[in-house]
Amino acid sequence: MYDLIIVGAGPTGIACGIEAVKAGLNYVIFEKGFLVNSIYHFPTNMQFFSTSMNLEIGKIPFISHQDKPTRKEALEYYRRIVQTYNLNINYNCKVDKVIPDQSIKLVQTNKGNYKAKYVVVATGFYDHARPLNVLGEDLPKVQHYYDDAHKYIGQKLAIVGGANSACDVALETWQKGADVTMVVRSKQLYQKVKYWILPNVENRIKEGSIKAFFSSSIKAIYDKEIEIETPNGLIKMENDFVLAMTGYRPDYHFLKKLGIELNGEYCEPSFNQKTLESNVAHIYLAGVILSGEKTSTLFIENTRSHGEIIVGDIICKMNK
Ligand SMILES: Cc1cc2nc3c(=O)[nH]c(=O)nc-3n(C[C@H](O)[C@H](O)[C@H](O)COP(=O)(O)OP(=O)(O)OC[C@H]3O[C@@H](n4cnc5c(N)ncnc54)[C@H](O)[C@@H]3O)c2cc1C
Repeated sequence: MYDLIIVGAGPTGIACGIEAVKAGLNYVIFEKGFLVNSIYHFPTNMQFFSTSMNLEIGKIPFISHQDKPTRKEALEYYRRIVQTYNLNINYNCKVDKVIPDQSIKLVQTNKGNYKAKYVVVATGFYDHARPLNVLGEDLPKVQHYYDDAHKYIGQKLAIVGGANSACDVALETWQKGADVTMVVRSKQLYQKVKYWILPNVENRIKEGSIKAFFSSSIKAIYDKEIEIETPNGLIKMENDFVLAMTGYRPDYHFLKKLGIELNGEYCEPSFNQKTLESNVAHIYLAGVILSGEKTSTLFIENTRSHGEIIVGDIICKMNK
C-alpha cells in the first residue's frame, strides 16, 4: 500500500516525486517506457524554446551551453535529478486502469496490481499523434514523429503543419539536403513560432528554397505521390515521405477509464483549479494533460509547480 502512486516519469511526474520525497510520503512512479520517455523521443537535435532556468525543478540548477538547452542536455539534467533525489521509479510499467474503491485506489499495471491512497496522473500527450484522416495515412512513408534529417537527404519530403515542430523540421531537413514542401492549413505559418526560427523559414519560402502551400491540405497519399487540395484546385506531386507535424493529444480513452470527465469541444478534464484534484476524489491530474485539446497552452514552464500544489493538498488531507 502506497500513500501516492504517480503515473508517468516525465518532467511533471518527476516534480511530483521530488515533492513526495520532501514530504516523506511512501510513493512510487510508474513509467511505461524510459525516464522522460517523451523528451527521449523528441527530435535528436532539438533545442527547447524555454531557457534552462525556466525548466528547473527541485531547486536543482539546470546548466546548459546556451540559454536554451538541447534535448541531450535535458536528458542529462533529468538523470541527475533522479539520482540526487533517489526517486523510486518502476520503468516499463504501464498503468492500464485505476479502480476507485472508496478512499483506496487499485492501480492495475502490466506488472501487477498496486494500492494507493492517492494517485497523480501525469501522462502528457506525446504518445498520441493527431491523425490526418486521409487515404494512405497508414503507409510506412507517413510519420508523425521526427528524429533526424539523415534519412530524408535527396528525398521529396512533404511536411504537414505550420507550427513550431513543422518549421523546425522543414529547416533542418532542407539544410541537410531534402527537397521540402510544406502543406499548411492556415493562410500563413503560426506567428508564434520561435522568434529565431520563423523569419528563417519565411525567407526560405520567399526565395523558393522551401516550397509551401498555404490554405491547403493533403487529400491522399500514394506510394510515389501525394494529392494536395489548394485554393487553386487539386494538385499532384511526386513524394517519398510525409511528415505529419500536426500535434498530439492526451489519451482520452485512458482518462475516461479512470472516470475523469472531459468537457466541451476541447475535451478539457474536470479538476479543481486550486488543488488539481480531478472529479474523482483522490485522483489528481498534473502537467500538460490538463490542457485537453489546447496542448499549446501548457508546457513544462507553467506546470512545474504542479507537484508542490498536489503534494501540499495531499498532506493537508492526510493531516485532517
Ligand atoms: C517537440 C516539443 C518541444 C517542446 N519544447 C518545450 C519547451 O521548450 N519548453 C516547455 O516548457 N515545454 C516544451 N514542450 C512541451 C513539454 O515539454 C512537453 O509536453 C513535456 O514533456 C510535458 O511534460 P509532462 O511530464 O506533462 O508529460 P510527458 O513528458 O509527456 O510525460 C508523460 C510520461 O508518462 C508516461 N506514460 C504515459 N502513459 C502512461 C501509462 N499509461 N502508464 C505509465 N506511464 C505512462 C510517458 O511515457 C511519459 O514518460 C515541448 C513539446 C514538444 C512535443
